[in-house]
Amino acid sequence: MQEVDLLCIGAGGAAYPAAFRLAKAGRQVLMVDPKGVMSGNCLYEGCVPSKAIRETVALYDGLERFQSLGLQGKVTVDFTALMQHKDAVQARRYAQHTEELAAAPGIQLCKGVARLLDAHTVAVDSDKGTDTYRAAHILIASGSDVFVPPLPGAELCLTSHDLYKPSPALQSLPEQMVIIGGGYIGLETATFFARLGTQVTLLQKGERILAGMDPAMVNQLLALLPAGLQIHTNVEVQRVEDRAGRRQVVWLDQGQEISRAADVVVLAVGRHPVIPEGAESIGIELDRHGIRVGPDLQTRYPHIYAAGDVNGRVPLFHAAVRQSLVAAHNMLAGDVPTDYADFTQVPTTVFTLPAVAYIGLTPSKAGPGALLEASYLFAEDARAQILEQREGEIRLFFEPDTLRLKGGWIVGLDAGSLIGQIGTALAAGMTAYDMARFADQHPMSAEGVSKAARNLF
Ligand code: ADP
Repeated sequence: MQEVDLLCIGAGGAAYPAAFRLAKAGRQVLMVDPKGVMSGNCLYEGCVPSKAIRETVALYDGLERFQSLGLQGKVTVDFTALMQHKDAVQARRYAQHTEELAAAPGIQLCKGVARLLDAHTVAVDSDKGTDTYRAAHILIASGSDVFVPPLPGAELCLTSHDLYKPSPALQSLPEQMVIIGGGYIGLETATFFARLGTQVTLLQKGERILAGMDPAMVNQLLALLPAGLQIHTNVEVQRVEDRAGRRQVVWLDQGQEISRAADVVVLAVGRHPVIPEGAESIGIELDRHGIRVGPDLQTRYPHIYAAGDVNGRVPLFHAAVRQSLVAAHNMLAGDVPTDYADFTQVPTTVFTLPAVAYIGLTPSKAGPGALLEASYLFAEDARAQILEQREGEIRLFFEPDTLRLKGGWIVGLDAGSLIGQIGTALAAGMTAYDMARFADQHPMSAEGVSKAARNLF
């Protein structure tokens, strides 16, 4: 039996920040992951590959807006080359992570699967057999996986895993695609393909697309989505069939059976936390999100932590990184909580074309009249006009009595970047006065943040 100070189950965004922090403090760390590489599903099949595609399509979209200015001919995208670009970005980042690991004495990464035997003992199954470790601290960071519902024909569908993994399943642009699921993964994917020219039909079971996000923000986005994307809500998908190599999707809409043929069907109905074997039998508790933790990231064992998608509180990479560091700080403090994660103030971006981003409280959560709103329309923004991307807005939400910032959203231009600035203001407890007097740079979209605040005065 080997001894380590910290054993991380997984090597994704919830694991490696803690691993590096503890190693820096002189501790011995072992990360275990069946991928045998650092950075989890974000780099393998999530944020990075999907954004490698998204940003290329956004460039194409941007060029299209300039056709009237004399760009000769029609700009086209070579889909196979686009996938190669995505693969190259992934390969480059894997190489970078390998170098980072090699330069970090004190951290070992083992290619294998971890199982909890008791509250301090972990078995690691690998090609070489099974090793057993005794760990002073355990960080469960096993992430999440695509949820595949018991839908007849589910095996005929692709998932985000198939679309975005290295050497993805799709190497040519389909003519017709049906996407089952109107969450952010389904909608992002729908806009990438629709913008490239695929006829996309998106089927959503419930009434709302991006359920859980503020309807007023979502409605603004829906009005801006690319032509070629058809959305059907309140439908019940019945089955997916194979018809001579093509797919046929059958759904119920108000009791009526409708079917559509497609080259590709994408199943995007959510993700579920991956609970390592043995966790429940040693008494680790689950709740409706995943492994139950408080903001200190401790499970019911003070030395066993669960960070990132596996606790399901904020299943986003950057939230996992922050949670990982919180767990590390609390381990270094002898498992006495000294640092806490904030599950409520995390920027969220839906990287559709165009994108939306939000943070903190928005009107639908706060209730009518509870927030003072200040907005800025991109129609009047210099950069938006320069780029011919004049749709959308920046909107800020303040507590009426104190003018303290409580939340905000961006629909459209630079949404994924601007939310960082609003998030920083929120985390710093800034008020509309503070934001209004900051000299945001002209002519960049960020000037809309202070202009929105100034619109209150
Ligand atoms: P997070 O962002 O929360 O770190 P990810 O899903 O990106 O989540 O990463 C979790 C990683 O954990 C994945 O690479 C996954 O393969 C790995 N993993 C899942 N279960 C186990 C296990 N039992 N042992 C080791 N690694 C695991």
